[in-house]
Amino acid sequence: MTETQPILEATGIDHDYGTVSVLQDISLTVPRGSVTAIIGPNGAGKTTLIRALAGLHEPTEGEITYHGPETARQIGYLPQHPAFRPGFTCRETLQFYASLVGDDDAAMEKLARVGLEDAADRNVEALSGGMTRLLGVAQATIGDPPIIVLDEPGSGLDPGMSMHVFDVASALADEGVSILLTSHDLELVERIADEVFVLSDGQFVQHGSTAELRARFNADSLWSVYENAIEGDLDTVRVQGEHA
Ligand code: ADP
Repeated sequence: MTETQPILEATGIDHDYGTVSVLQDISLTVPRGSVTAIIGPNGAGKTTLIRALAGLHEPTEGEITYHGPETARQIGYLPQHPAFRPGFTCRETLQFYASLVGDDDAAMEKLARVGLEDAADRNVEALSGGMTRLLGVAQATIGDPPIIVLDEPGSGLDPGMSMHVFDVASALADEGVSILLTSHDLELVERIADEVFVLSDGQFVQHGSTAELRARFNADSLWSVYENAIEGDLDTVRVQGEHA
């Protein structure tokens, strides 16, 4: 492993559910200590891809190489809908996860990192949606994984809370953690992402830094890039909507 090596390299990823192909020939690299975002319409294959990259399921074809985490267990993961066992406080919940990796003192530090220290003694079922998501981010940092994968970290949250979750992710990247996320919030992606991949119908149709993508499309925002990059998909959605 060298410092300039990407933390994760994937080549030729295909994924099928039965006879339905949802990912075709996906290749990407995730650079160290930066934020990489995958954006795309519903059904494009983002969750399928990100779960494969997080080592949670085997893609049908292709190769994923990690240069840093030795096993998929060393990858932090925030699911789109994190859920915690009721009846335990935030502190107890994180203590449990911390004990799994032999780091019993990590709970309060991880809660403070996401801004949840005042909720340490609150039961998890009494948390708001945003606080539950933050607890999920804190859980993903247990064991100090070198890469953290976040599936839709801002979905269903109010704008202020989504921004806070994204800013926590960005701060982790500043500390050297490699962040890989999916999101529909293009403003927040533009705010924190270094690299953006646009996934449409199971394939990457664009890739670059936000500045490169804006320049390529002579666009003033990532939204405008997105609209151009997946024009066909947007039309399909619109037509389906008209007939619904
Ligand atoms: P996205 O996250 O971009 O919305 P997904 O990866 O969730 O996309 O889904 C991609 C496609 O795969 C969708 O058409 C979805 O219905 C289908 N799909 C997802 N999970 C399964 C599954 N477990 N079995 C069969 N089809 C699935």
